[in-house]
Amino acid sequence: MPRFNPALLKNAMPYTVEDLSRIFDVSEPSIRRLLKKHPSTMIDGSPHIVIGRALKRALKANQKPRNRGASGDASFFCGSCKAKVRPAEQVVEAQPHCPGVTARLSAMCEHCEGSVSKFVSLKDRGAFEASLGEATIGEWGD
Ligand SMILES: [Zn+2]
Repeated sequence: MPRFNPALLKNAMPYTVEDLSRIFDVSEPSIRRLLKKHPSTMIDGSPHIVIGRALKRALKANQKPRNRGASGDASFFCGSCKAKVRPAEQVVEAQPHCPGVTARLSAMCEHCEGSVSKFVSLKDRGAFEASLGEATIGEWGD
C-alpha cells in the first residue's frame, strides 16, 4: 500500500488523477483506487478532479499513527512537563544537524511553552510532516 503524504497537497489547488500520480509518485490506477475510497473529495460533475483541501482531510483522517515515539511522530518530550507533548500551534522549525542525514527540530511545548527539540532522520521527514499536519519551517539540510 503506497503512502500518500497529505503535506504534499495544497489546499486551494484542484488536482487531476495525473497530477496526483506525479505528486505521490504512484501509478494512476492506484490514485483511482484511492479516490474511489474518498468519493467526497471529487468535484460533483467533474469526475477525477480533486480539491486539495478535501483530499488532505480525507488522507489525514485515514492515517494511523505508527511507531509512536519514533522520529517520524510529530511529538516531543518536554523536560518540564515530563511528558510527550505536541508542538504549540503546530509550528516546528528545522535546522540541518548532520546535513543529508539528520535535522534538529525545535518547537514550543503546547502546555508550558518551554522549548523542546529532537533530532529526526531526513528519511522520516514525510512521516513527521504528515503527523504534524503542516510543513515544518526552516531547512532540513537535504
Ligand atoms: Zn511542557
